[in-house]
Amino acid sequence: MVPTKERNHSSILISYKGNNMLVDCGEGTQRQLKIAGISASKITKILITHWHGDHVLGLPGLIQTMAASDYDKVLEVYGPNGTKEKFKHMFDAFEFDQNKMYIEIKEVRSGVFFENDDFLLETLPLEHGVETLGYNFIEKDKRKIEMKKAKKLGLKEGPMLGKLQDGKSVVIEGKKINPDEVSYIVGGKKISFVSDTLPCKNAYKLSENADLLISEATYKSELEEKGEAYNHMTAKQAAAIANKSNVKELILTHISARYKDGKEVEEDARDVFENVRVAYDMMKVKL
Ligand SMILES: [Zn+2]
Ligand SMILES: [Zn+2]
Repeated sequence: MVPTKERNHSSILISYKGNNMLVDCGEGTQRQLKIAGISASKITKILITHWHGDHVLGLPGLIQTMAASDYDKVLEVYGPNGTKEKFKHMFDAFEFDQNKMYIEIKEVRSGVFFENDDFLLETLPLEHGVETLGYNFIEKDKRKIEMKKAKKLGLKEGPMLGKLQDGKSVVIEGKKINPDEVSYIVGGKKISFVSDTLPCKNAYKLSENADLLISEATYKSELEEKGEAYNHMTAKQAAAIANKSNVKELILTHISARYKDGKEVEEDARDVFENVRVAYDMMKVKL
């Protein structure tokens, strides 16, 4: 909630096939993007978990920069109920020419809210005292052609391979070829974002079988009562979610400023879930 010398407010960027999706935008995010060498004008979507300042204070600055850099796309913003109203207030508070940029705001609550050929985005409400959302990025399964096998059957690059890739069979020289004969399915990856919340049913549901769960872990177990009082989780509680939901890897973030070193938070989780790391600024993860 409070940035430290080493740790900036929260913001996570997912880059996938030309899409750059920002999950939350804490204070100082645009500068962090600069340091990371990512141009603000490349951002395509912003997903807001909730409107506590530590998750959104960077929005006006970032959007102002995007507008000034002649952003020529439609910026899609997704957030909980009230997001449209909050944006209106935010723009009212600054001298900002709203005609300089087109922003499409969608308030979401539960289920899939975006889908294209490659991936989908879904959300579920969490329990944090104010309207708060967790998010999933789910890559779709893809069929991969085995060229050696395909060539043996007389197939060449072209529309027939495209058909097989779509899971349809083709006929070549009077012989039917089923997609499974020359291709196999590569499972898509799933990333779950469980932001500020108490441990709750939807946090478990959201992260089911995720390849990566990025979860808040404000406290260590010794402060579990404090966590309950402030609607936050301990590292161990986040680890329990990863464990029960069959998650492959857990990354903890949103660490209280009282912990100088992420290691002690990591240790708190490791009793329950082995494959855990604590996020640090500019951390990069490739799936
Ligand atoms: Zn927070
Ligand atoms: Zn919060």
